[in-house]
Amino acid sequence: MTFHIHTYGCQMNVRESDAVAAMLEAAGHVRAADEAEADLVIVNSCTVRQKAEEKALGKCGNLCAPSGRAGRGDSPVGNRHRRQMVGLMGCAVSRLGAEVFRKLPNLDFAVGPRRFGLIPKIVAELEAQGCPQRRSGMNRLELPDADEIPEGLSAHSDLASGMAGFKSYVTVLLGCDNRCSYCIVPSVRGHEYSRPAAEVIAEVRALAAHGVKEVCLLGQSVLRYGRRNKAWDDDVGEPFPRLLAALDGIEGLERIRFTSAHPNGCTDELLRTFRDCPKVCRHLHLPVQSGSDRVLKEMGRRYTRAEYLAAVAKLRAFDPEFAVTTDVIVGYPGETEADFEATRSLMDEADFDNAFIFKYSPRPGTRAAELPDDVPAAEKERRNQTLLADQERRGTERNRRLVGTVREVLAEGPSLRNKARWSGRDGGNRIVVFEPSGTLRAGDLLRVKITEAHPQILLGELA
Ligand code: SAM
Ligand code: SF4
Repeated sequence: MTFHIHTYGCQMNVRESDAVAAMLEAAGHVRAADEAEADLVIVNSCTVRQKAEEKALGKCGNLCAPSGRAGRGDSPVGNRHRRQMVGLMGCAVSRLGAEVFRKLPNLDFAVGPRRFGLIPKIVAELEAQGCPQRRSGMNRLELPDADEIPEGLSAHSDLASGMAGFKSYVTVLLGCDNRCSYCIVPSVRGHEYSRPAAEVIAEVRALAAHGVKEVCLLGQSVLRYGRRNKAWDDDVGEPFPRLLAALDGIEGLERIRFTSAHPNGCTDELLRTFRDCPKVCRHLHLPVQSGSDRVLKEMGRRYTRAEYLAAVAKLRAFDPEFAVTTDVIVGYPGETEADFEATRSLMDEADFDNAFIFKYSPRPGTRAAELPDDVPAAEKERRNQTLLADQERRGTERNRRLVGTVREVLAEGPSLRNKARWSGRDGGNRIVVFEPSGTLRAGDLLRVKITEAHPQILLGELA
């Protein structure tokens, strides 16, 4: 069959879609250029905010609608390709369970996050039974256990070319055992499980051997790697810094990133790793969520404003150019103007390089969903816009300090806005746009002198 996967949500979903694509290819299926050419379309869903879930389910609904698919035996609609199967995977499946088939009765299968490895088998079984399932009313649902270890974690599509040929995500920690009051992730992605270090190292070695230059290690709270279950055979050192140090030695690999971090994990050993391991990028995505101690306590974030700022100060004392990015939620239940102003001032003090701002969205089953969602939508929007404008100013100021410096940039390809130029990223994950030379290839590491600063990008010339 030809297949196409639509991915919504975070990097973890991007990674899991790629693993599914790799397994489908290994089973003999062929990637379609786009959805219109695909016999099988899979939507990988997110449920972190209601809007994200609606988007994924809306897409799936269109694909399942009679006008969006033509089943075996149906006459093709115009010159439309005969689509035979539509599947849903990801976090919305865990949240909705069997209800997903009441919302999407024509859906053929729905598979929760820790069971994505079963998709090729399910596709084969449905094919053998004669799809579409809506005929027989047999929708296939796979809901994972909270402790399940997925199949296919190491599968990468087209190993020879990786995600963009030279960059790849690698999942190291599954699930989450934190219980942040607003967050649905622990209930849909299950308990924390750290993959054995030996397995991660072998996966990264294989990627590097196939030309991957940069890996990004994924986990909801990645610095907790090796805390709930052992990742190493012995207890020497801190598990995550030790993993970084081991990966730093892999030949051919140039850069190691990881996300997301928590201030409690910013230990001296982690800092020593940044100092001693040149491939480990000096960037932390350190979601703060709020700058108000009262709100942080209600959210169950397990740090105070002062502790968070101390972690940032430690990173910047070590390297003033250390990039720190964050996530913030505005309009959490009961968030007052004073709480919001505390977030604004924290963001100034932390001097973030970039920030993702989210409007609070109540998620079923979370502690916060029991509280009144009492910040009006218009006020959430105002707070959102205020923080975005602050960050735009701050981003430009921080980037301005880099004008005249030479950054090491991993070339990615022609810039989206101006194809005559190329873009890449520096170690701090900042986008750098520059005039290419004739021999340039994606994945090359270059030295670029910064000539101009904008809020989200740096312009420069090859040094
Ligand atoms: N595990 C990461 C952490 O805690 O650092 C975050 C994972 S979550 C998928 C990504 C971001 O979505 C969070 O950092 C938070 O800002 C935002 N988020 C989570 N739940 C939310 C909700 N109910 N409403 C709005 N934003 C939310
Ligand atoms: Fe959600 Fe908190 Fe876990 Fe992040 S650490 S996934 S915000 S519960």
